[in-house]
Amino acid sequence: MAERIDGKQVAADVRAKVGEAVKTLPGQPTLAVVLVGEDPASQVYVRNKVRQTEEAGMRSLHHHLPVDASQDEVEALISRLNGDDEVDGILLQLPLPKGLDEQRAIECIAPAKDVDGLTEASAGRLVLGKDGLRPCTPTGCVILAKSVLGDDLSGKNVVVIGRSILVGKPAALLFLAENCTVTIAHSRTKDLAALCRTADILVPAVGRPEMVKGDWVKPGAVLIDVGINRIDAPEKGEGKTRLVGDADFGDCEKVAGHITPVPGGVGPMTIACLLRNTVIAACYRRGWALPS
Ligand code: NDP
Repeated sequence: MAERIDGKQVAADVRAKVGEAVKTLPGQPTLAVVLVGEDPASQVYVRNKVRQTEEAGMRSLHHHLPVDASQDEVEALISRLNGDDEVDGILLQLPLPKGLDEQRAIECIAPAKDVDGLTEASAGRLVLGKDGLRPCTPTGCVILAKSVLGDDLSGKNVVVIGRSILVGKPAALLFLAENCTVTIAHSRTKDLAALCRTADILVPAVGRPEMVKGDWVKPGAVLIDVGINRIDAPEKGEGKTRLVGDADFGDCEKVAGHITPVPGGVGPMTIACLLRNTVIAACYRRGWALPS
């Protein structure tokens, strides 16, 4: 049976390390969070981000625009935060309300303050292998893999299923930067199961509940499940639902060496990596030495 990778614990360790690092800095990093509209899930995420930022000893500024805010208003706020010397990181909570152009708004964020790592400049720096701010969820996947395999991932065969800008592509590039041999699979990939069986580290990031079965997994492999899918759970009562990953956990845990649960695997890593990026952004921008 696979050992579970406790994402909550690994994320808590990352946050504790960030908190220790913050204490050694000559000033206090500041994260500005921008929420547009009243989406309840986004409000919960923002509250968690603000709370965890402050728990790590950093300052957070919360900016809330109404649901009918215009593109110009959103971009004007981001421009103001770009020019505010106190602000080290800007997080634009997604999704934006319908009618707003997310990519255009993201591109307004100054690359030096792009703690989500989603601007074209950040993506370009990742491709070029230059220092920069990396997307949070993919960074979390690499940290989780290292938590069980150690820091040296070189030579590992990695299969990432999914090629989205947000997860699949950056995850593949981050594992490549760790000297892994990386294959990116997607909806047109032929014989996906056989390809997955070549992976020492398998990273499904698809959005299809329980797609990856036990016989897709190489015995002893590390399975980092990015997918978060809500499915009906009649066993819990009428109308009830539950969260599952892209891997069939019960089936895959019989074969894998290590596996992340959903929830409690990759999910908690995203905010932890955001806090880590805020420290990195502050150090780059203010010329402070990066804490080890
Ligand atoms: P997207 O829908 O943007 O991308 C899905 C990818 O999966 C696409 O590249 C698509 O291929 C590929 N795909 C779809 N169907 C198949 C298939 N049958 N076989 C192989 N590949 C397939 O999703 P995201 O990348 O944004 O998110 C992926 C999952 O990760 C979702 O469940 C999401 O909720 C979760 N997520 C979790 C986060 C966390 O914090 N844990 C953060 C962000 C996302 P193609 O390009 O060919 O269409």
